[in-house]
Amino acid sequence: MSSNQTNTDVILIGAGVMSATLGTLLKELAPDWKIKVFEKLANAGQESSNEWNNAGTGHSALCELNYTPEKPDGSIDITKAINVNEKFQLSRQFWSYLVKSGQLHNPRDFIRPIPHMSFVEGETNTAFLKKRFHALSNHPLFQGMQFSDDPEQLKKWIPLIMDGRTSSEPIAATKIDSGTDVNFGALTRMLFDHLKQNNVEITYKTRVEKIKRTSDGLWKVTVQDIESGTIEDHKAKFVFIGAGGGSLSLLQKTGIPESKHIGGFPVSGLFMVCHNPEVAAQHHAKVYGKAKIGAPPMSVPHLDTRYIEGKQTLLFGPFAGFSPKFLKSGSHLDLISSINPNNILTMLAAGVKQRVLTKYLIQQVLLSNDQRMEALREFIPKAKSEDWDIVVAGQRVQVIKDTDAGGRGTLQFGTEVVRSADGSIAALLGASPGASTAVHVMLEVVQKCFPDQMNEWEPKIKEMIPSHGVSLAENPELFQEIHTSTAQTLGLDGSDSDK
Ligand SMILES: Cc1cc2nc3c(=O)[nH]c(=O)nc-3n(C[C@H](O)[C@H](O)[C@H](O)COP(=O)(O)OP(=O)(O)OC[C@H]3O[C@@H](n4cnc5c(N)ncnc54)[C@H](O)[C@@H]3O)c2cc1C
Repeated sequence: MSSNQTNTDVILIGAGVMSATLGTLLKELAPDWKIKVFEKLANAGQESSNEWNNAGTGHSALCELNYTPEKPDGSIDITKAINVNEKFQLSRQFWSYLVKSGQLHNPRDFIRPIPHMSFVEGETNTAFLKKRFHALSNHPLFQGMQFSDDPEQLKKWIPLIMDGRTSSEPIAATKIDSGTDVNFGALTRMLFDHLKQNNVEITYKTRVEKIKRTSDGLWKVTVQDIESGTIEDHKAKFVFIGAGGGSLSLLQKTGIPESKHIGGFPVSGLFMVCHNPEVAAQHHAKVYGKAKIGAPPMSVPHLDTRYIEGKQTLLFGPFAGFSPKFLKSGSHLDLISSINPNNILTMLAAGVKQRVLTKYLIQQVLLSNDQRMEALREFIPKAKSEDWDIVVAGQRVQVIKDTDAGGRGTLQFGTEVVRSADGSIAALLGASPGASTAVHVMLEVVQKCFPDQMNEWEPKIKEMIPSHGVSLAENPELFQEIHTSTAQTLGLDGSDSDK
């Protein structure tokens, strides 16, 4: 065992899409800063950001019904939908900037256009979808959305879903062609390749074990080479904990007051993947249904055309489940070891409150393959078991904390940046809407952790992300301009579909 010590400006922990995005932003804003990355796996983008571990939806609320809840008076609340959509526009702009400036090549390798659709059955759900359509379709951010409850039209939009459908219940769908399928794994690896070429030191197969404040005001990050067992200490002025499900335990190790009273609840996932290319070729959309009662928002079933490893494929899911691991590559002890005297009451309160969710997750874990096929047949009535396999998706660790609104032990479904008061360390917790909002969340880290640099950095941020700080919902002309130009640059306007 040897002990080295180095000094650097920034340490990023974890090589997922969040660290990739923050590293790329900081490299643009402060090109001279020294950045180091430590990743415990052998490559970047192998945990939640990997293409097989998430659904690859460029979340912009075009099809996800949980972003448009029905209010008690029966009207549709579109506030959250606008918010999610605005955040995705920031990602589109940053990725376009990177493509235009030659830092990312071949956007088709990480983003493709795909219609986003919502599909419902039954009178109540059909009425809800129609109201949702009316609430959204006149809004500038959701232009181009179409609605139909005509089975003949639906057969044209979603032939695979309509084939063999015998129910006499009303059905309806909305469709918007400006949706996207994003390969976040490919994007992450492309961003890290670019960072590497720009002198960012990325060390794989190296696990961060400890994070400690030093007397000189820096952070000491202790890492272990997984193969050789060698331990090294690296000091940095700023540390970002972008370890996905591993972030909570590392945050707890920092001892900062902001890390107290926070817990994590892991939710695992499974997708069904179609290995029959003839079936996959009959579907061309991301089609989101409605969550079952008691189901968490992230387990809304959807049938997605995906582009993975250069091939068009078809995924259905996710089926939620329970595993005590915080990372797919984690340990069965992750949940239990995340409980400490600071958060035990928060965790116990959550345990009492979340009985419905726990019951739902246990039911999901116990589903047999036949039962999963039944769920799939609600989407594809003629689905055959021999065409479908199971793939294990990534782990999501939902944040549990005490809130004024929800009280002790409230389960959060969003992402959350936790940082020290002086901004010298920050961690990203939570999973939704996730990778799609990476640029928005990492800009929040930049703004909150580097307030003294913001005056100097603001013009560069505006150059990279022209709508930064501006509401696109309130500036429809700017939205149109940005949406059109990013579609062109990222190849989402159909102009390079044969490439
Ligand atoms: C089933 C599922 C479906 C999803 N669908 C979507 C979707 O459709 N659209 C969307 O936008 N988002 C989606 N998400 C969310 C999205 O995948 C995540 O928000 C995003 O990938 C998180 O990125 P990250 O960089 O924070 O974490 P990760 O990608 O998990 O990266 C964290 C990295 O840190 C490393 N690490 C952990 N601990 C240590 C340590 N101690 N030392 C060194 N390295 C460490 C890990 O090995 C990993 O590589 C989905 C997630 C899941 C699980």
